[in-house]
Amino acid sequence: MPEDPRVAYRLCPRCLRAVPVQSGERYCVNDGTRLLEHCPACGAGITSPYSRYCAGCGQALAAQDGKEGPSPRLQRGET
Ligand SMILES: [Zn+2]
Ligand SMILES: [Zn+2]
Repeated sequence: MPEDPRVAYRLCPRCLRAVPVQSGERYCVNDGTRLLEHCPACGAGITSPYSRYCAGCGQALAAQDGKEGPSPRLQRGET
């Protein structure tokens, strides 16, 4: 099987934890969320472990639905 020259990652949409595809992880070990392999909007691969937005279309990769309310970490005033 030819090796893909691009390093690819899977990204947890909940906690933004990234793991290399080679790790074989499919679910976030932190919270059990299914990891994203591709941008949900345009299908572009995730090529950086620091991706928070799609490099191809700018779509936010983190979950946007607010099912659990806003993250407390978004509050300002953290010291
Ligand atoms: Zn996670
Ligand atoms: Zn995209």
